[in-house]
Amino acid sequence: MSFQNFNLHPSIMAGVEAAGYTTPTPIQMQAIPPIMQGRDIIGIAQTGTGKTAVFLLPAMHRLLQLPRGKIGALIISPTRELAEQTCEAIDELGKKTGLKSIAIYGGVGMDQQVRRLRSGVEIAVACPGRLLDHIWKGTIDLSHLDILVIDEADRMFDMGFLPDIKSILKCVMERRQTLLFSATMPADIRRLVKDTLRNPVTVQIGQSAPADTVSHAVYPVKQHLKTSLLIEFLRRNETDSVLVFTRTKRRADRVAMQLERAGFHVAQIHGDLAQNRRQAALDSFRSGSVKILVATDIAARGIDVLSISHVINYDMPDSVDAYTHRIGRTGRVEQKGIALTLVTHEDASLIRDIENVLNAPLERITLEGFNYLTPAPVVTGRPLPNRSNGRRPFRNGVASGRK
Ligand code: AMP
Repeated sequence: MSFQNFNLHPSIMAGVEAAGYTTPTPIQMQAIPPIMQGRDIIGIAQTGTGKTAVFLLPAMHRLLQLPRGKIGALIISPTRELAEQTCEAIDELGKKTGLKSIAIYGGVGMDQQVRRLRSGVEIAVACPGRLLDHIWKGTIDLSHLDILVIDEADRMFDMGFLPDIKSILKCVMERRQTLLFSATMPADIRRLVKDTLRNPVTVQIGQSAPADTVSHAVYPVKQHLKTSLLIEFLRRNETDSVLVFTRTKRRADRVAMQLERAGFHVAQIHGDLAQNRRQAALDSFRSGSVKILVATDIAARGIDVLSISHVINYDMPDSVDAYTHRIGRTGRVEQKGIALTLVTHEDASLIRDIENVLNAPLERITLEGFNYLTPAPVVTGRPLPNRSNGRRPFRNGVASGRK
């Protein structure tokens, strides 16, 4: 793939050439096309991956079609250094576009910034605190905003800017494209993403991204054999801390109980538990006194345990993003993590979507010696509901794995 494939405006292509970029970096290849289509993006990438050009090139392309002298792109940066660096990249890549930018940060007088804003700029690169000063004083007009970029979101949150970011989001146009970049995806950011971005595409690059440090595998199995398979897996494999996700609170209850019965020491969290019980469960998991935690998605928000060795999706999550978020809890900070998902034939289409995002097939594993043919218990009384949800059957069938 080359930069020609992105159909960028010729004046931007001139900047790309002048900067000496010949081949797009992996994150540029993955993220620029959906951004050009107007999609919201979560870019899990560190500095050094070429992420600045990921948002600058499509943003500048868009701005060339919008009225001049109005701020159409706002980039929120954690530090003045990064804001300055981003403005330098705009100067370099946008040299031939005539687009004007401003770096906005505190510690310097407001007057000069106000004068520059009045003279008419198209791109503002701003640190949260000083940006809010301008918003409250009415010295910045964001009513023409088309693209919002939240850069290095995790650093911003580490620095305590979350309340400022939320205030800024309330003051900008709702109808806009939002791009969020972060090297890691802690719970606060996942929450912000959920509240702010619309149907975002996730792109992951770099060392701490789950794609690199997490090995993914799926275990095809029939619904009624999931717990037996899970128990067998836990018996056979060495695990450290294991986070098991279920779809519903009732299933979390049931799985936790079945694991206890099988001799495992288990904690569980879900929305029906009182806050003190949830906290106690989390504390015991964090301290390592309990090694297995069964959780629903919602209850598991905020779990950031660095030593989670295995994320086990007892039930398939609802979407690719939910999958990414769940497995993002393992493989953090260059530790190797394992994500495995028990899948039934109903999960086939979502598996394909995940494989598309990962750009790699998920390994199918069959547990040797496990009796996949054990029949479902006969249920008397009410007939079981038809669980078909329209997903296509699993490509390789239940017994198709490798190992
Ligand atoms: P960033 O991750 O955005 O801070 O970029 C890191 C460095 O890579 C910067 O010096 C960029 O100018 C440079 N860079 C970005 N994209 C490319 C590319 N496609 N080819 C060569 N250098 C690039």
